[in-house]
Amino acid sequence: MDIATPNDYRAIAAGLAFPSEAFINGRFVAARSGARFTNLNPATAAILGEVAACDEDDVDAAVAAARRAFDAGAWSRAAPEARKDVLLRLAALLREHAVELAVMESLDSGKTITDCLNEVGHEVPNFFQWYGELIDKSFGKVAPTDESALALIVHEPVGVAGLVLPWNFPLLMAAWKLAPALAAGCSVVVKPAEQTPLTVLRLAELAAQAGLPDGVLNVVPGFGETAGQAIGRHRDIDVVSFTGSTEVGALFLKYASESNLKPVGLEMGGKSPFIVLDDAPIDDALVSNAVSAALWNGGQNCSANMRQFVPRARKDEFLDKVLARVAALTVGDPLDPATEMGAMVSADHQRRVLGYIEAGIGEGARVVAGGGALEGHDGYFVKPTVFDDVVHGMTIATEEIFGPVLGVIAFSEPEEALRMASDSVYGLHATVFTRDIDRALHFARRLPCGTVSINRFSEGDIKTPFGGYKRSGSLARDNGTEAIAQYQQTKTIWIGGPEG
Ligand code: NAP
Ligand code: MG
Repeated sequence: MDIATPNDYRAIAAGLAFPSEAFINGRFVAARSGARFTNLNPATAAILGEVAACDEDDVDAAVAAARRAFDAGAWSRAAPEARKDVLLRLAALLREHAVELAVMESLDSGKTITDCLNEVGHEVPNFFQWYGELIDKSFGKVAPTDESALALIVHEPVGVAGLVLPWNFPLLMAAWKLAPALAAGCSVVVKPAEQTPLTVLRLAELAAQAGLPDGVLNVVPGFGETAGQAIGRHRDIDVVSFTGSTEVGALFLKYASESNLKPVGLEMGGKSPFIVLDDAPIDDALVSNAVSAALWNGGQNCSANMRQFVPRARKDEFLDKVLARVAALTVGDPLDPATEMGAMVSADHQRRVLGYIEAGIGEGARVVAGGGALEGHDGYFVKPTVFDDVVHGMTIATEEIFGPVLGVIAFSEPEEALRMASDSVYGLHATVFTRDIDRALHFARRLPCGTVSINRFSEGDIKTPFGGYKRSGSLARDNGTEAIAQYQQTKTIWIGGPEG
């Protein structure tokens, strides 16, 4: 069947069985307390189901299963080829179930089916394939010594990894962490965001089907303060990798310092700039990048380029073209392949975004498109919103909004743009449009952030490390060969040598 119409996706949605339990030691189990929470479709406010609300007891059970599996060695000490085979089988199963998973993710999160098909159906399996393929081609080192000694530098899996996830790319963020952690040989305990627990639970089931031993991959849905905190404070979790807000990331450092000093990898918020230099033609490519940089995924994107710096003399031209494109955006039913922007993830989040829009108006920025909730829906939609006359230092130019808001800040000199763009507690991503290679290099070198995109809004891909400077991240990186390092210890083995 060539799936193309909203009705086709609705039919698939109607036939889906949603996971509702935790996944511990290779099986779906209820939370020990019996507690459950209600999971919604934010595009319709319809209840999708009740999901096990895990707490400390369930995290204990999951960590015990993960530790047993790790110590038994069927995964942690398996030949890398054996781990590769399982990860490749998982990638194949994910591709086979791509449409089912994409529809489930769209219902759970309000994201468009088009994005879900790309992320869940295409990128997620590629992650398991890429790290599966990588792991039997990763070598240790031999240090230079005299001939009587042999000094080996080898990498070993850290042990039990706790992975705590956000809701904006539910299965993709799971894959960013799971694929390298599993490839490295770790056992894992995953906590999805409370808004979006479904697809990672389904993935766990598929991983078991692919041959992952029981206990290696455990999923504990639940709330941050209970399940999340229990992971952060657990004394038998060896490492945590977290993606979410800077505020909660800071809590994980506190949990670690108050428990077993586990290392914590943090991928957090951003307030990324999009800088148009005066030599760049304001053509279709630039305008389409500007709009998706701010509005893609409803702006619920850690590296969204909300702050758009434009030369004062070019601002009218830029705004006219951006506004024409924004007016043409299709916002609404996420299951319609024609939809380009879906819902905010929850009523709370919609309120938060609308609060920022009001703050922008209150501080003197001018709404030139959108500026409120999208009427006619039971779900939680915000109109794509554009602000003119944003001034560096305003609340909307400082704090992460995480919603469909684009703000235009005029500048006179390129160095002024560089200074304002860099003046943020965040440092995740920046975009620069210019045809001048010297300026491109100057901005790329000077912008204090983990990714700089020149002439394209992008976050790189599987092969390139992703993470933030300043309060956007720790030194840990997701993606690329760098991600594996989060889940490995480095050991020196020194054999023989002269007696000293
Ligand atoms: P969040 O509120 O920080 O939540 C992230 C995770 O932490 C969720 O699983 C959450 O559980 C859990 N959590 C919340 N409070 C906790 C607590 N007191 N103790 C332990 N765990 C706790 O972030 P979010 O709203 O889901 O996601 C949006 C944020 O993620 C944005 O700031 C965005 O920039 C960031 N993000 C960063 C990247 C990156 O790679 N840098 C990528 C995507 C998103 P509950 O869901 O149950 O609250
Ligand atoms: Mg949901």
